[in-house]
Parts: sequence; structure tokens; C-alpha cells
Amino acid sequence: MKTSLSQMTLDDLSRDATLAAEKSYSPYSGFRVGAALLLDTGKIVVGTNVENVSYGLTICAERAALVRAVSEFGPGIRIAAVAVANLNGAASPPCGACRQVLAEFAGPETAIVFPAASGKTTMRFDEVLPFGFDMKLKQRADKA
Ligand SMILES: [Zn+2]
Repeated sequence: MKTSLSQMTLDDLSRDATLAAEKSYSPYSGFRVGAALLLDTGKIVVGTNVENVSYGLTICAERAALVRAVSEFGPGIRIAAVAVANLNGAASPPCGACRQVLAEFAGPETAIVFPAASGKTTMRFDEVLPFGFDMKLKQRADKA
């Protein structure tokens, strides 16, 4: 994928995601994931997965990073790029819930780097979530 961000920037962001994965709390799955968000201000915010004995309460690294970013910089944040990494040598594209939550603060061209089955992959956000829920779509449907 072509992105306006340099490959070096995306590589650095992936490295930040990998470092965040080292902080993972994942005693149940042992799947250690990290995420790094590059905000349009140049700030980088990282997160890691935090599991819970009640499995459904587990929060993914991507959402942990996003909640941290909003908490730290406020509701006006915009995401320029996302990197996801894990320490398990496995493919780990963001789950559907994380895609929808990230979409709130990302644009269609936001780059997202993640380990895929074929190796590290970079895609545009509108490629990983082509039909995310959007209230604007609902409003258009209401007018029709
Ligand atoms: Zn997720």
C-alpha cells in the first residue's frame, strides 16, 4: 500500500507496538499484543492487551491505546497511523471491535500495519473496515 507516511515512520511505530507487547497482561492466552497509535500531532500512544479471568472483559491492545490517547489528549485526537505487533510470531490483524472503535478517530487513509499470515502488512483503514457503522449512513437512510 502507498501511504504518505515514510516506511521508517511505520517501522518505528511497529517497534513501539512490539515494546508495548512486552507489558502485556495475558496469563490466560499467553498472546502478547501491543499497539501504537501515531496521532496527527506527532504524538505516539501505546497500549497492550489486558486479559481478565472473565474472558469477555479482556481489552485488546488497540482499544487500550485508544482509551489512553483520548484520556491523555482529549476527544479531538485524530489517528494518522496504527501499528499492531505481537510477541507470538502470529498473524494479528485488529479484531472487528477494535476496527470499529479506531474508526471513530481515524480517516479512510489512516495507515494500519499489522502482522498478517503473509508477514507484516500495511493497509488503509477503509480497506480493513470497508463498511463500518457510521451515524452519517443512518441519517442518509432516514432521509431517503
Ligand atoms: Zn481487538
